[in-house]
Amino acid sequence: MARYTEAVCRLCRREGAKLFLKGTRCYSKKCAFERRPSPPGQHGVRRRKMGDYGIQLREKQKVRRVYSVLERQFQNYFTDAEHQDGVTGENLLRRLETRLDNVVFRLGFASSRAQARQLVAHGHFTVNGVPTDVPSYLLKPGHRIEVRESRRERDPFKTAKETLRSHQAPEWLSLEPARLAGTVVSLPRRDQMPLDLNEQLVVEYYSR
Ligand code: SF4
Repeated sequence: MARYTEAVCRLCRREGAKLFLKGTRCYSKKCAFERRPSPPGQHGVRRRKMGDYGIQLREKQKVRRVYSVLERQFQNYFTDAEHQDGVTGENLLRRLETRLDNVVFRLGFASSRAQARQLVAHGHFTVNGVPTDVPSYLLKPGHRIEVRESRRERDPFKTAKETLRSHQAPEWLSLEPARLAGTVVSLPRRDQMPLDLNEQLVVEYYSR
């Protein structure tokens, strides 16, 4: 499974925004972007003025990096989104939101998408009772995600029943803390995906 392995805080500084890639650290004083918001590199402090192409490219990179998806896979998601009914940008975000690793993160089993991805890849979850270790697995309404019986006494699930009680899952998911499980109730609408992202710029980037 290919993935980005460089220091992730550089990505926030590159995009000029907090992408929340490191869980609880992102909300602490240790956040690298809070301490040094300039782009990484020797000439980082000098931000150049961007044209339309630059703005579209940066937004595409930002969306891709929030979900930790590599370029090829992101392009494939975009192509699928274009072929679906509805608004392409919204279709794209919906596809990203319904990845298994993102749903594990949204349900509160992990503090970041990176941790969620690792938990899924280590085979801690089932989807409709079937062990599934593919982070990009596409979930649909009715899919039930559950921590495997044999993993419930392990970290980080041992204490999760308590912490999940105060977790607020989005409306399109239903969380059952006592069962360490959650269900996809419906596909998310744009207003149910509170993301500070401009998907229209991504559409414009690929439509050049
Ligand atoms: Fe970005 Fe989080 Fe690193 Fe801050 S701590 S720079 S929000 S990944």
